[in-house]
Amino acid sequence: MSRERTEHDYVVVGAGSSGSVLVRRLLDAGHSVHLIEAGPADEEPNIHSPQGWPMMLAGPLDWSVMTAPQQHARDRRLFWPRGRVLGGSSSLNGMIYIRGHRSDYDSWAYHGCPGWDWDSVLPLFKRSEDHADGASEWHGAGGPLPVSRIAEPHPTAAAFVEGAIGLGHEHIDDFNGERMEGVGFNHATIRGGRRMSAWQSFAAPVLGNARLTVTTEALVHRVVTEGERAVGVEYEHGGELHTARAGAEVVLSAGVLGSAHLLLLSGIGPAEHLDQVGISVHTDLPGVGENLHDHLLVSNIYESTGPLPQGKANLLESQLFAKSDPRMPVPDLQPLFLHLVYPAEGYPQPEHGYTIAPGLVRPLSRGTIRLASPDPATPAVADPNVLAERQDLEALVDAVEMCREIGASAAFDEWRKAEVAPGPQARTRDDLRDYVRRAVGTYHHQVGTCRMGSDSEAVVDPSLRVRGVSGLRVADASIMPSVPSGNTNAPSIMVGEKAADLLLRTS
Ligand SMILES: Cc1cc2nc3c(=O)[nH]c(=O)nc-3n(C[C@H](O)[C@H](O)[C@H](O)COP(=O)(O)OP(=O)(O)OC[C@H]3O[C@@H](n4cnc5c(N)ncnc54)[C@H](O)[C@@H]3O)c2cc1C
Repeated sequence: MSRERTEHDYVVVGAGSSGSVLVRRLLDAGHSVHLIEAGPADEEPNIHSPQGWPMMLAGPLDWSVMTAPQQHARDRRLFWPRGRVLGGSSSLNGMIYIRGHRSDYDSWAYHGCPGWDWDSVLPLFKRSEDHADGASEWHGAGGPLPVSRIAEPHPTAAAFVEGAIGLGHEHIDDFNGERMEGVGFNHATIRGGRRMSAWQSFAAPVLGNARLTVTTEALVHRVVTEGERAVGVEYEHGGELHTARAGAEVVLSAGVLGSAHLLLLSGIGPAEHLDQVGISVHTDLPGVGENLHDHLLVSNIYESTGPLPQGKANLLESQLFAKSDPRMPVPDLQPLFLHLVYPAEGYPQPEHGYTIAPGLVRPLSRGTIRLASPDPATPAVADPNVLAERQDLEALVDAVEMCREIGASAAFDEWRKAEVAPGPQARTRDDLRDYVRRAVGTYHHQVGTCRMGSDSEAVVDPSLRVRGVSGLRVADASIMPSVPSGNTNAPSIMVGEKAADLLLRTS
């Protein structure tokens, strides 16, 4: 039985990239908000150092999700880190600030999401931003989210840019500018040598606001409904169940896994699946938990000639956007450079080295999230079904070849001792297919499980309202119909901005 009942205008579940933004905007508009987050306060020092993120993976602030065995990737379970702390995944991510290609958002709009086209969302990206370069056609200044250039790139990150340029890739000064295809240095959510998470940027500055209640270390169990209307959520805190009531609306910002999980636990999802698990059906919504997809990444690992110099930024300083087929209108590959050894399962990890990581950003494979149990504390089963579509495998092999060429270029001569993954024994395209299946992992950009749209399978409408349930919206990466072509933190922050406008009815 629930112990305590509180009421605010809005209850927001999840203090991640989208939730932090939404809370700030609702408070600024004069509303009261109860924010409920499963993780603790962001006191861990590694959060705030731009180089601390690898140390947090699989630690206490990470949900440390393991996927279902992946039948097209040698039945391996993939490790998916997700933030469980104020700031959510923005507190342990790599801090790269990229919005994606304009066609990503135009395609959302064409597929039943009017109001989400590029021209409509660009002002929202800019509104969030405080770019160190100042305001311009492409950037905002004076917003809550600091963004800056990598001031002193690591020499190996610079070798990556030089090597790619030598192979004919265009130099790009700003991936968020006019043109994205090519190679260059990232811009990052860092200021004064500190990570600027969504929490630190948007919510922490207004923590003293009397209209805000933040409950941490509280696992939300389900949405509470009265008839067709959502009126609050039930959550566990300190070993007891509580109810938080919303006078206006409930918003799930629990992330790509958390929001779909909560809808299913609340009886909102595919009726057949809910029946199987023993959850009574509130609303038969077949799309909940469908459409799970992710950017895929492999680690081409190099042993270096010796220890690398210490870097000064986020360890992820340069990237390349490229096409697996020149006839494509936009890039589908995003190889990433890391001046550390980013492990590839089953391959050696040299003591000193660097990684050129082939990445696929327009995957065709789709998977699901399903309940393993009606117990809210039991993780849902994430099955992204990676490489189910042959085209994804072939595009990743193209990316591996592209990265090998860069890795073998003269720009790396002073750093390269040996390629250890895929390694010299991998010669043919078939060898590389095998390598991809053995080593494929994630770029950490899962989306899509509460897909927005206007069709009968969509989970939320273009105003982010859950279909068939009033007073309930979803606002996070789960609503994205398809993953943008770049890293997903800035797009998730944009979703928070858009959700605020929709709730406050300004767009
Ligand atoms: C290791 C890593 C590196 C990444 N690197 C980059 C990068 O460099 N650049 C980039 O753009 N993107 C990066 N990303 C991706 C990006 O950070 C995410 O796409 C984005 O943060 C997702 O935002 P969100 O609001 O959807 O979810 P999250 O930020 O994950 O927030 C969800 C929140 O909900 C909480 N929650 C979930 N379930 C419950 C529940 N039942 N009760 C209460 N609270 C709950 C979670 O604890 C979490 O705080 C990275 C991600 C990871 C994991």
